[in-house]
Amino acid sequence: MTIWNNPIDTVMQAANELYPNLKVFMQFDPGVKHGKFLFLKWGTHGYTNFPTDKNEPQINISSRIDLGRIVEVIAHEIAHAVAGYVADHGKEWKTEFDKIFDKYNEIMRSKRTETSKPHKL
Ligand SMILES: [Zn+2]
Repeated sequence: MTIWNNPIDTVMQAANELYPNLKVFMQFDPGVKHGKFLFLKWGTHGYTNFPTDKNEPQINISSRIDLGRIVEVIAHEIAHAVAGYVADHGKEWKTEFDKIFDKYNEIMRSKRTETSKPHKL
């Protein structure tokens, strides 16, 4: 069995198609926490470390994140790994983020079929 529109698989497929040679260590981390109350926000949904040695960037994604936000957060962190530490959230980072998100949407659209029908529980 498989979930045909699994958002995690699809955003990873998008990134792998765009950057087939990108080396990143990526994991879900229950220690990465975030929250909000009214207008207050704390913590983070994920982060990217750039080791000072020659090792690949390490991406940690909160394992507590809502499914509705997971694609955005993974694309956000992969864009950091591609654009590099110095890019921060600047133009280069935004360009890479948009590329990943556009590719993700392209793949999702291609996965839809005419036979897909909602099933009511
Ligand atoms: Zn960021």
